[in-house]
Amino acid sequence: MQPTSSTPPRRAIALMYHALSRGQVPPGQDPHYTLDETRFRGQLQQVAEAGGACSARGWLHDGEQRPVLLTFDDGHISNYELAFPALVEHGMRADFFVNPGHVGKPGFASWAQLREMGSAGMSIQSHGYDHVYLTSLGRDALRERLHAARITIEDGIGSAVTLLAPPGGRMPAGLVGIARQCGYGRVLSSRPGRLPASRGTTVLPRLAITTAIDAHRFHAWIHGKHTSILREQLRYGSLSLAKGILGDSRYERARMLALAGRRS
Ligand SMILES: [Zn+2]
Repeated sequence: MQPTSSTPPRRAIALMYHALSRGQVPPGQDPHYTLDETRFRGQLQQVAEAGGACSARGWLHDGEQRPVLLTFDDGHISNYELAFPALVEHGMRADFFVNPGHVGKPGFASWAQLREMGSAGMSIQSHGYDHVYLTSLGRDALRERLHAARITIEDGIGSAVTLLAPPGGRMPAGLVGIARQCGYGRVLSSRPGRLPASRGTTVLPRLAITTAIDAHRFHAWIHGKHTSILREQLRYGSLSLAKGILGDSRYERARMLALAGRRS
């Protein structure tokens, strides 16, 4: 269907990636969240056909108009080695949410690599200081760590950090206000949904890419299909409930056991 003057513009969505792999998933990486490079490149092709992608920074600050925003959490070395070259080939930009406490450690991108990505137009942002869930910190510690994370990343890459993606999507009460005090204009959550029509909203939803997302569902998401995204919201709601009932550590143990069972 051709858009007409009465058709509202399609609402954009933000995708949340983690690590990529070439062949076997390296030890220590969560297999559910580690996408094979070939599949990732196939998804970029689908995104290109749907109208292309930009970073959340480009969408929020530069008024870029794309149906898809690309984001990566955790700052894995594969973001530099595999995602970065694929994005450059497609002429796409993304945000990379990194933990300064992990930068340069084995398995993670270094400051020099992040600077190279930043110089090529990628947006390097904050995933907290060291991947401790923000719900486990008191207010003073939270303020201190969020501030330290922003300053350390800005010093490391030489450009402004304005976006925060909380580790594990865990958002304590009052986070938005504290994040603002620490210099973050926006928070990118792990709660699924379409992006608001207005770009003034502080907390933005994202759709998590896992190995369970097939090409059909991916296509529905990037075309903003309401029912497909609603289904993801319901799934997320029941997972959040399980996390609330079991607590974070018991939930993670149960999830790892379920994953191990699926592989064996
Ligand atoms: Zn993370």
